[in-house]
Amino acid sequence: MSKNIDWSNLGFGYIQTDKRFVSNYKDGAWDDGIITDDATVTISECAGVLQYAQTCFEGLKAYTTEDGHVVCFRPDLNAQRMADTCRRLEMPVYPEDKWVEAIVKTVEANIDWVPPYGSGATLYIRPYMFGSNPVIGVKPADEYQFRAFCTPVGPYFKGGAKPIVIRVSDFDRAAPNGTGHIKAGLNYAMSLHAIVDAHNKGYSENLYLDPATRTKVEETGGANFIFITKDGKLVTPKSDSILPSITRRSLMIVAEKYLGMEVEHREVYLDELKDFAECGLCGTAAVISPVGKIDDHGTEICFPSGMNEMGPITKKLYDTLTGIQMGRIEAPEGWIKVIK
Ligand SMILES: *Cc1c(COP(=O)(O)O)cnc(C)c1O
Repeated sequence: MSKNIDWSNLGFGYIQTDKRFVSNYKDGAWDDGIITDDATVTISECAGVLQYAQTCFEGLKAYTTEDGHVVCFRPDLNAQRMADTCRRLEMPVYPEDKWVEAIVKTVEANIDWVPPYGSGATLYIRPYMFGSNPVIGVKPADEYQFRAFCTPVGPYFKGGAKPIVIRVSDFDRAAPNGTGHIKAGLNYAMSLHAIVDAHNKGYSENLYLDPATRTKVEETGGANFIFITKDGKLVTPKSDSILPSITRRSLMIVAEKYLGMEVEHREVYLDELKDFAECGLCGTAAVISPVGKIDDHGTEICFPSGMNEMGPITKKLYDTLTGIQMGRIEAPEGWIKVIK
């Protein structure tokens, strides 16, 4: 029986569900993992994660399709990305096939928490891993915990997607040759001051520049950029310090294969932003948030799509990708993992 929740009015906050997945790594091997009721984590006061921030995460969604199945979108790419992250943080990789199985088990155990089709709500899944044994000299932990919980989240846009205003940030989110390309908690810890400051000044997000030259566009704290040119091309920034968004990579394929658009994945300079027709931020949470205006230290870049609604091509991309996710449009091979 589906939980008695007002799905359409849910926000984006943690709601504890019945079950979660836990697996422990010890003596060089992962155990089989279990589904448990216990929503708390008990670790040493000196655990590696608490001292040296050895932790990483992923984020994906389960939802009900038009024909009543419960599915996830490209979870194999989340598994791959977490494996890449773990290698960079000297953490043990959780085998990718087992990773997807763990997500399936977590959703199955919480199937009553999956919001119904048409509500706009989804079940957000948060897989994560951290160093769990005592570490005082600086080195990687020897023991780790991999967990996955889920929480129902409401529709990202209530009453339509209003374009947002963002600013060019004076802070950097990633160092050259640093950890910008992996989903590490530490990237978020250091972005918190910048986002609180942006919000205090009336901006929704920070546009981060490339850390080496500060002339090229990277991404925001948690979403990649897409731009639409006046002649209808999709342009998206390329950089070694951008987190490879699965939404952005999927939109590139949707643009080319479904909408017949030209796609350019290349360096994007700050001083060419004024020439684009539309701008959006893409990530799992919103799929695409339209950007209406970018403030670069008092110089306003206003996109012709305006402040009232999503640009027309951004809207087409959004409708096509969400159509694929919700089962209204046929998906490319392997994109939809059916759970129920
Ligand atoms: C998670 C994340 C994204 C979005 O990635 P998706 O796979 O599309 O959800 C973009 N940028 C950063 C920094 C992220 O952490």
